[in-house]
Amino acid sequence: MIPKIIFGPAGRPINFKGPGYKASQYIKNEGLDAYEYQGGRGLKIGEKSARILKNNSNENNVLVSIHAPYFINLSSNKEKIIENSIDILFKAAQVADWMGAYRIVFHPGYYLKNNNSSFDKVNSLKIAISTIKKLFEKLDENNINNFCFAPETTGKKSQLGNLEEIIAICNEFDQFKPTIDFAHLYARNEGNIKTKQDFNSILSKLEDELNIDRLHCHFTRIEYSKSGEKRHHTLAESNFGLEPELLLKSLVENDFKATIICESPLLDEDALILKNIYENLI
Ligand SMILES: [Zn+2]
Repeated sequence: MIPKIIFGPAGRPINFKGPGYKASQYIKNEGLDAYEYQGGRGLKIGEKSARILKNNSNENNVLVSIHAPYFINLSSNKEKIIENSIDILFKAAQVADWMGAYRIVFHPGYYLKNNNSSFDKVNSLKIAISTIKKLFEKLDENNINNFCFAPETTGKKSQLGNLEEIIAICNEFDQFKPTIDFAHLYARNEGNIKTKQDFNSILSKLEDELNIDRLHCHFTRIEYSKSGEKRHHTLAESNFGLEPELLLKSLVENDFKATIICESPLLDEDALILKNIYENLI
């Protein structure tokens, strides 16, 4: 049985010396239960290594997710970029299947601009949805059907992926569940997630609009500017915002099952601090 709220690092634990695909046992021994494999700079992992990751994770009861490459833009007006983005997510689905990843996390893309150079949010969302339809056709033609894509709330105001857009994309497709990066929401809202009530309203929106068994989350303290996300910070750097206690209290009180992937510079070490805060709440 997977515990109700589990924690893990975004990538290889900071003091782990081996290859990333062998990290699951180390993660379990530390006391963590989740692992987000990082493919942000490209999916170079082969089938053999990915299957080792799957076996190690199953043996150690570590829940695996994968972060797809950053260079995806589903809402581009350039055909070539759309084709490349489809190819990348197609490959990610294949790799996710090999490694038994329960979510494929990705950043949906960037807003197109109107003539007056404001963001054309409506058309960007429409294009992203039509691109995903093409991706599904390609997956279907190749008999790849064991996947769950998890578009992430993004941290820059120029990026497609505010909470409402992520909900809209997930509502459009089966096999789509959100990744809620709370730090990104905090950064793109210029710090406007300050109280437990603020977290509650995010969770109730998700609960009202989507059918989520387990909520996949990213967490870190974060620095932002007018355009959004700037830099991730450790939990100890408490002059930067986003309070972990408030998120965890809100998840517990609203009876959510959740996976919290820690994206602070101290990955697994801060994930353990988050777990400790959680255990003191229940
Ligand atoms: Zn991300």
